[in-house]
Amino acid sequence: MMKCSYIGAGLCGQLLDGRELLFECLLYVWYNRCMKTNYEYLLSKVATAKPTQCLVWPYATRGAGYGVTSVKGVVRYIHQLAYEYKNGAIPPKWRIKWTCGNHLCFNPFHVKAVQPPPIYLMERLEVLGLKEGPCEEWPYAKFGSEYGNVVLKGHNEHVARIAYTKLKGKIPKGLDICHKCDNPPCFRPAHLFAGTRKDNMQDCVKKDRDNRQAKGRVGELHFKHKVTEKDVLKIYAMKLMGATAKTILTKFTTIGPSGISHILNGHCWKHLWVKQPQALRDRPRSC
Ligand SMILES: [Zn+2]
Ligand SMILES: [Zn+2]
Repeated sequence: MMKCSYIGAGLCGQLLDGRELLFECLLYVWYNRCMKTNYEYLLSKVATAKPTQCLVWPYATRGAGYGVTSVKGVVRYIHQLAYEYKNGAIPPKWRIKWTCGNHLCFNPFHVKAVQPPPIYLMERLEVLGLKEGPCEEWPYAKFGSEYGNVVLKGHNEHVARIAYTKLKGKIPKGLDICHKCDNPPCFRPAHLFAGTRKDNMQDCVKKDRDNRQAKGRVGELHFKHKVTEKDVLKIYAMKLMGATAKTILTKFTTIGPSGISHILNGHCWKHLWVKQPQALRDRPRSC
């Protein structure tokens, strides 16, 4: 007869004969293999986690590769468990995001709680009101990487339009929401006004923001330029030396054959072309 020393089998402290002891040993092994695995593994790793390295989940995943484990019969996401281990309960409706971008990581140092954008917007608008002040930039997703975007009832909406509607009233039909501050991500209601598209474009040109219409923006100042002034002069020199368009093309990879042709014909970079020797200007469209 021997005394049981294992934990978890439910028979601790009892006197056992050989067969019972063998049974309990098997039960212990099974318990360790099947019941303690994933969640216990997570807890042991999280307790010793260091901020420098990602902890990669080797077990089950769900959806777009998010690690999951069963806790008391409930399937839970590992990044949420990692956050709860370090910071306590997740605030209601907040999401847990990775700072490292690795969806399999469960390092508690690599996760943070993020307020849902619509709730953040409403809370900020209540604080901002119609008071004047510095620009309030949208910290979440943006339309075309400039204008704040928020998803409301399944639709993408402009943050500035929502802010205007909430504090200044309905947007008149056909009008745009413009920024007095010229800062597209800003949604401070005091900086917004409703105007026609024409007003908006005129305002934009007046403030010299529209490259396409701002006068004097030629050459390297043009927003679509692909070569520098130096390159253009080099192209002229090569042409005067008798180089063909094909040879010029091999030296400049940012432009195609039509780009070379436009430069040599004086259709673009005209301000440089007119200053070139007659020899170059005498034989346009030759390449
Ligand atoms: Zn990580
Ligand atoms: Zn502003």
